[in-house]
Amino acid sequence: MKKVFLVFLVFLLTFGGTVLAKDEVLIGLSVANLQLERWQKDRDIFVDTAEKLGAKVIVQSANNDDLLQVSQVENMMNQGADVLVIIAHDGYIMGSVVEEAHANGIPVIAYDRLLMECDLDYYITFDPIRIGEIQAQYLVDKKPKGNYFLLGGSPTDMNAHFVREGQMKVLQPYIDSGAIEIVGDQWAKDWSAQEAMKIVENALTATQNQIDAIVASNDSTAGGAVEALKEQGLAGKVLVSGQDADLVACQRVVEGTQTVTVYKPIKDIATMAAIMAVSAAKDIHIPTNGTINNEYKEVSTFFLEPIPVDKTNIVETVVKDGFHKLEDVYKNVP
Ligand code: BGC
Repeated sequence: MKKVFLVFLVFLLTFGGTVLAKDEVLIGLSVANLQLERWQKDRDIFVDTAEKLGAKVIVQSANNDDLLQVSQVENMMNQGADVLVIIAHDGYIMGSVVEEAHANGIPVIAYDRLLMECDLDYYITFDPIRIGEIQAQYLVDKKPKGNYFLLGGSPTDMNAHFVREGQMKVLQPYIDSGAIEIVGDQWAKDWSAQEAMKIVENALTATQNQIDAIVASNDSTAGGAVEALKEQGLAGKVLVSGQDADLVACQRVVEGTQTVTVYKPIKDIATMAAIMAVSAAKDIHIPTNGTINNEYKEVSTFFLEPIPVDKTNIVETVVKDGFHKLEDVYKNVP
């Protein structure tokens, strides 16, 4: 059994009765946006688990609008939320609501994306630095020399920065030795595929197509990169990383246009976050397995382990887990 589940099992055996006690908990789940496939899964599994634990959930999506996300969270407090679970569009801006929540006795959990400069209660995430390491390691194992282009995610999302930190940990020695040259470094606003496509189109023009690998930070930006590569007949020739194991990304992986993605079993994070939320609302201390600095304090964090996925293990990971169906993943492969 995975270590993380063992920690939780012990927790549930100790506090299960209290967590499941029927006094109803109201959870406010604030989501930055629901555009990507993964966030819809996060929401569905979170709500389902919370309801099974006897809680009610108010879900609001902010469409990547910071002012809207703040006012939605304030509304949740006014509606009597006992606990807030926040997937921030901007980690600093949303960090500012924590003080108000605490003044009302409401604990706050950051989900997937860290909230900055605040007295955050808990954070649950797939280790974002590890994700960056996995992406870069996979690419350098395939091409230890060459021209690398760095394609970052949304600058307002701390994950984009942590992922980059992980990527650089792996790439720096290769850059220092001169084996790898960084031929460009840009960040795609809101992790947008369209923006990523434009960035890579321009990079290809600027380098006269001399790019060997694109370190794309997630699957939406990878999708944009692959579209730009297609226009130049380079899809499948240039290495491209990603993250999320989105269905279209998995299809690209088996077709060979995206080299690797990072699978993050959403079931695990969403289920555990729901248990955490109900527990926090009942003032039960939650077990965690690490901490992360949010420029205010070391935040108690529950880290989950991300999994690299390529052609060779896609069936035994995302398909076996029921994350995607085999026939959907191989839909475009004759
Ligand atoms: C998440 C990624 C996601 C990205 C864009 C990040 O914070 O960790 O899974 O691809 O946001 O929504």
